[in-house]
Amino acid sequence: PPFSELGLSEPIMRAISSMGYERPTPIQAAAIPVVLSGRDVLGVAQTGTGKTASFTLPMLELLSGSRARARMPRSLILEPTRELALQVAENFKSYGQHLRLSHALLIGGESMADQRAVLNQGVDVLIATPGRLLDLFERGGLLLTQARLLVIDEADRMLDMGFIPDIERIVGFLPTDRQTLFFSATMAPEIRKLADAFLRTPEEITV
Ligand code: AMP
Repeated sequence: PPFSELGLSEPIMRAISSMGYERPTPIQAAAIPVVLSGRDVLGVAQTGTGKTASFTLPMLELLSGSRARARMPRSLILEPTRELALQVAENFKSYGQHLRLSHALLIGGESMADQRAVLNQGVDVLIATPGRLLDLFERGGLLLTQARLLVIDEADRMLDMGFIPDIERIVGFLPTDRQTLFFSATMAPEIRKLADAFLRTPEEITV
C-alpha cells in the first residue's frame, strides 16, 4: 500500500514527501497500521530496512493526536549506542518538522546538566541509551509514569552489550498499561524470552 493508506495525517505525509520517500518499505507498510491500532509489535528487521520510520512515524501520529496533560515524557525510545540514538533523533526531527512535539536526547558523553535542563522544560519523547537514562533517573526529577509508548530497538545488541538488566529496571518505572514496540535483527531463543517478558500479545512482523 502507498503511504496515503497507512493512516498518517497531513503534516506527517508532507514531511515524508519532502524527504523524497515514494513508498513505504515492507516493515513500514506492516508496522505502521499495527502501531496506530495500539497493539504491541515484535519486529524482526535489520538496520537499513526503514525500521526507524516504522516506529517514529506512528509514534508522531499517536502523540500529535492527543495533548499532554502534564509536561512529562509520553514516549521512550531505547537505543544501544549513542550513534543510533543520534540517528533516531535526526529522523524524529525530520518526520516531525510540521508538528509541535519536543524530544530530548539522553546519551553519554554530553553534559548531564544540559540534559536535565531540557527535561525540566518538559518533553514529549525521550530518545536514550539505557545507562544515561538510569543515571538521570537516579538523580531524581525524571518521571516516566506517563510514558505509555515504549520502543526497545536493536534488542539483540542490547543483549550483547549487557543492557538487559538496565532495561528491566527502566521498564519497571513505566506504566503497565503501555504499548511496547520491540525490534531485533535476530530472534534467538534468548531474545524471544525477552520479548515475551516485555510484550503483550504482539503482532509479529518479520521482513
Ligand atoms: P533505517 O533502516 O531506519 O536505518 O533506514 C535506512 C535508510 O532508509 C534511512 O536513511 C532512511 O532515511 C531511509 N528510508 C526509510 N524509509 C524510507 C522510504 N520509505 N523510502 C526511501 N527511503 C527510506
